[in-house]
Amino acid sequence: MSVRPILEAQDLVKRFPSRDGHGAIQALSGVSLSLSPGETLGIVGESGCGKSTLARVLLRLTEPDEGTIRFDGADFRAFGVAALRRARRDMQLVFQDPYASLDPRLKVGSIVAEPLVIHRIGDRTSRRRRVAELLELVGLGSDAIGLYPHEFSGGQRQRIVIARAIALEPRLVIADEPVSALDVSIQSQILNLLTDLKQRLGLSYIFISHDLGVVHHMSDRVAVMYLGRVVETAPSDRLFDAPRHPYTQALISAIPEPDPERARRRIVLAGDLPSPEAPPPGCPFHPRCPQAMPVCRETFPAATDFADASPGAPDPHRAWCHLYPAG
Ligand code: SF4
Repeated sequence: MSVRPILEAQDLVKRFPSRDGHGAIQALSGVSLSLSPGETLGIVGESGCGKSTLARVLLRLTEPDEGTIRFDGADFRAFGVAALRRARRDMQLVFQDPYASLDPRLKVGSIVAEPLVIHRIGDRTSRRRRVAELLELVGLGSDAIGLYPHEFSGGQRQRIVIARAIALEPRLVIADEPVSALDVSIQSQILNLLTDLKQRLGLSYIFISHDLGVVHHMSDRVAVMYLGRVVETAPSDRLFDAPRHPYTQALISAIPEPDPERARRRIVLAGDLPSPEAPPPGCPFHPRCPQAMPVCRETFPAATDFADASPGAPDPHRAWCHLYPAG
């Protein structure tokens, strides 16, 4: 029996007006994805590929121009103000920058209690108890209640952000580059905390990062984005063991491999990510693709499904590339 996805998006399109006001920036060009309860879906790609726009569109913090979003089976885009407010208790966003997302004038106790106050949950005493619990849960301890954000390190601030995000017992957390502003030595502590909370609280994650190594570590499945499109998606190990799309192959080849026996040949991509104001025709990756063919300049490739490592698995390994026969 298949499990109903907690979140399902089909053909999401988002355009923004271009800087000169005459054109449009195509931030998302038909993104589809699905997230099962308890799963972590990693979204990876270079800065500017549309990952953060996707996070905001999935939560309706930014309205999409086209496409459908189903949250727990219901048409999320049709939710009115009251239904949206209720649904927002179940979905939270953790941003990249713990410095910017905490109000420096508020003490930690008020910051973590804020969602409880907004949603009118509990009274002063019960909220204080809950905040102490949350701070213990993220490894800070209740002494943090009376302190200000500037009295904490970057990693500790991200713990405060996470405590606030789980205050309403959400079912879905979208983490947008949650460790990229932190020192490498602190990153793994925060990743371990997120993994621990997922298990203890039964969370589902969409985990967004430009760092493929981090995404591999965190995710059950991965979607690789390039210029507003998903170009490959697969179960995480499968994607890393047998990437099919030349862009994914290049990203994986750049991950440092400590074992010299397993060292990969680095695929260096020519040029930068093109501007979403003027995406290349055909396959948008063709100007940088080491395997581009004439057809790639003209036609966007259809999807190809590859036999999965585990037959019958619900999540296909799928890539959009002319190197493979469509279907
Ligand atoms: Fe490269 Fe062509 Fe495949 Fe695009 S469709 S990734 S240009 S081979």
